[in-house]
Formats: sequence, structure tokens, C-alpha cells
Amino acid sequence: MTDENCLFCRIARHEIPVELLYEDGHTLAFLDIHPRAKGHTLVISKTHSKNISDLPEGEIAPLFLTVRQIATLIRERLEADGLTLGINDGSVSGQEVDHLHVHIMPRFEGDGGGSIQAVVNNPPHEFVSEVRMKIKK
Ligand code: 5GP
Ligand code: ZN
Repeated sequence: MTDENCLFCRIARHEIPVELLYEDGHTLAFLDIHPRAKGHTLVISKTHSKNISDLPEGEIAPLFLTVRQIATLIRERLEADGLTLGINDGSVSGQEVDHLHVHIMPRFEGDGGGSIQAVVNNPPHEFVSEVRMKIKK
């Protein structure tokens, strides 16, 4: 399924040029146009979905197989010391393009970056066990 006006669907249809790293029948990996680190990459499914809950089950494995393949390639070729992998899900989390994408951000010793936990510090006023009950009784 493709969305006529979606930016990343348009990239998947090769209507907008990108620095392409990988493509198969289900997925695409390309360099972010505004890299936050050398090799900052986006991995997308060719199937349009806004977030991970909307992505059809059969597209999940292909997406994360590509994430693993490209993460491994970047680690080796750019000699990254580590990687931060992440998804901004919803505008509250910083999602600007409403087509699910996985960021691969190469990390280098001394790059000054933080951990994923550093993106928010809003702990609950309830016990963790109570929160668990709300999610799954
Ligand atoms: P988000 O905040 O939605 O998780 O991230 C969207 C990402 O897409 C941003 O890092 C932004 O730089 C990148 N991006 C936006 N438009 C384009 C584009 O036309 N080409 C490429 N390669 N990346 C883009
Ligand atoms: Zn799309």
C-alpha cells in the first residue's frame, strides 16, 4: 500500500532522489538528508504505515532484517563504535514524517551524544507494578 502524497512513499517510488544504501522488495535504506552523525540512515518499509502498530505483520520481519543488515554494514564500513537505533512514534515524540522509519545513528567515542533514555525524564507517579496492571492485567 502506498500513499500518493507521502514523502517516504514518494522516495520508495523513486520520485525523489536519495542516497540509497539498500533496496529489496519490501524495504529501503537511505541516508538522512540532515545527518546527526556520519552515516545517519533511515530504514523504511515500502508499505505505507504511520507507526509500528499500523504496519502489517508480514512487513515487520523484512523491515528489521534490513535494519540489522544495514546496521552491521555501517558498523563495519564507518568503523562506528556503536549505534543508536530508534523510532519517533507520533508528533509528541518528534515524528515529522508520517511514514514509519527506523533511524540508525552511528555512535563514535566522544561524540557527546546521550542514551535513548535521555530523550524524556517523566517518571510515573505510580508503582511500576500498577503501570504493568494497566497495560496487561
Ligand atoms: P522524524 O523526526 O520524522 O523521525 O525524522 C524524519 C527524518 O527524515 C529527519 O531526520 C529528516 O532529516 C529526514 N528527511 C526529511 N526529508 C527527507 C528527504 O527528502 N530525504 C532524506 N534523505 N531524508 C529526509
Ligand atoms: Zn508513506
